[in-house]
Amino acid sequence: MAAAAAIYPPLNQRPLKNTIVLFDVDDTLTIPRLPVTPEMLQILSELRHKCAIGYVGGSDLVKQQEQLGTSEVNVTSLFDFCFPENGLSGFRLGEKLPSTSFIGWLGEEKYKSLVKWLLHYIADLDIPIKRGTFVEFRNGMINVSPIGRNASTAERNAFTAYDAEHGIRPKMVAALQKAFPDFGLTYSIGGQISFDVFPTGWDKTYCLNHVEAEKNRPDGVEYTTIHFFGDKAYEGGNDWEIYSDDRTIGHKVKNPEDTYKQIKELFF
Ligand SMILES: [Mg+2]
Repeated sequence: MAAAAAIYPPLNQRPLKNTIVLFDVDDTLTIPRLPVTPEMLQILSELRHKCAIGYVGGSDLVKQQEQLGTSEVNVTSLFDFCFPENGLSGFRLGEKLPSTSFIGWLGEEKYKSLVKWLLHYIADLDIPIKRGTFVEFRNGMINVSPIGRNASTAERNAFTAYDAEHGIRPKMVAALQKAFPDFGLTYSIGGQISFDVFPTGWDKTYCLNHVEAEKNRPDGVEYTTIHFFGDKAYEGGNDWEIYSDDRTIGHKVKNPEDTYKQIKELFF
C-alpha cells in the first residue's frame, strides 16, 4: 500500500498545490452499500496527480474499507486524507492522525448525568412496547432509542407510526435541551426509532480542522482552495454544513455518475 502511495508527487509538489478536493462517500463516490467502480478509482487517481484528495464519511473506517477498498487495497492508500466519522478519526498518507471521542470531549461526570437522565426518562415513558438497548454508546456520539434498538422490523415500523402521531422523540429532545442547556450538544432525529446526540460542530466540518492543521507541518501546505462534493447538500442533509461552510467550495451531486462528470468538467 505504501508503494502505491509513493507514485504520487509529495503534497507540496502537486501542480495545484494549495487545492484539496474532499468527497462524501455514500451516493457521492459509491452507491450505498455497493463497492466503488473502477472508473471512479481511475479518475480519483488521476486527480491525485494534480492536487490533494480526501473523503469524509459519517461511518467508520471498516465500512469505508468495504466500499472503497478491496482485500488487497487498503482504503487509506487510495486518498491522501481519509476522514471516517466526519474526521473524528483520520489518516494522512496512510498514517493515523490524533482522534477524538465523545466521552473524551464530554467527560465521565457529565456523561453520567446525561445517561441517568435518559434512562429515567425512558423508564417513565408510557409507550406500547419497549425492548432493549436504549442508549448505544459509540465513539463520536450516543444513539438513544425510546423503544430500544433490539426492536424487530415490525416493532420498528409500529413505533415509527406511533411516534409520528405522538411526537415521542421530538418531545424527548425538547426535554433534553431544557435539562442540559450548557452541554453544547446537538440532537438529530434520524431513522425510525432513535436519535443521535453529539457535540455541536461534530458534523462533516470537523474534518476541516485536520485540513487547516496541515499548514503547521514542516513540509505542510496551506489549503486555500477546498472543494467539497456531496449529495445531501440541502438543509438538514448530512453534507449541508460542510457544503455551505465559508471555507469550502461546495458541489452538489446527484449520484456517483454525476460526481464523475463534475470532476471531469472541473479538473480535466
Ligand atoms: Mg452521501
